[in-house]
Amino acid sequence: MEENFIFDTLKRIGSTCREQLAWLVGRIEGPALGTDEWRHLLNELRIFAMSSAGAPSSGLEVWPIDLKELPREIVVSSKTLRAALQKAQYGILYAVLDVLERVARRQRVMLRQHWVAGWDQKRKRYLLGVAPEKDTFRDAVLRGVTRCVLEHGHLLKECQASAKLKPGRKRKDEPKPMQAVCGKLFVARKQTQLYCSGACLSRTLTRKKRARKIGRTRRAMVHTKRRSRAGATR
Ligand SMILES: [Zn+2]
Repeated sequence: MEENFIFDTLKRIGSTCREQLAWLVGRIEGPALGTDEWRHLLNELRIFAMSSAGAPSSGLEVWPIDLKELPREIVVSSKTLRAALQKAQYGILYAVLDVLERVARRQRVMLRQHWVAGWDQKRKRYLLGVAPEKDTFRDAVLRGVTRCVLEHGHLLKECQASAKLKPGRKRKDEPKPMQAVCGKLFVARKQTQLYCSGACLSRTLTRKKRARKIGRTRRAMVHTKRRSRAGATR
């Protein structure tokens, strides 16, 4: 791989864990991909795995990537990459999505890596590492994701704002649809951020305000009814 290419890609995916986590989430929540874009993403993943392994010289080019691991053909027909992966339910990116969803829901994440404690001749110490003969592209990508999660996983969330309603007047006898939520994955700027976007925040605030107003009107109505009832019994 050319040095320039690596540098350009690193600029796109970011160099810190926070940036890389945001990049991953953006990719997964982004549009489904065509063939060229898919190849592009594959290269980005390669650089991601490489930079997160902490050793750019670790000869990542020789890592064989099993193309069966990347469900390209299913990805093209969906609205978002996330939707496509949920349909496909296999492959490296599906494994990544699974980890991100678990983290956003504060669930436990199992790690399947071939860790070894190896003797480092130069430093004369045992060091934690990965057995190179057992390592795969998939493991390397997931290792990168884990590293990002350990540093910034607390900021990864799933937007809980109620979803946008379909436009148009509802018929009175029509059953009310279940309250769906936005559900988008996002990396919060700070721990207190609850919604993925300004649109989701203002929609939530408007609905809360409306609900409060309705509540006030109802309470006022009950109050008047009680008063008139009290007047009648007097
Ligand atoms: Zn949202």
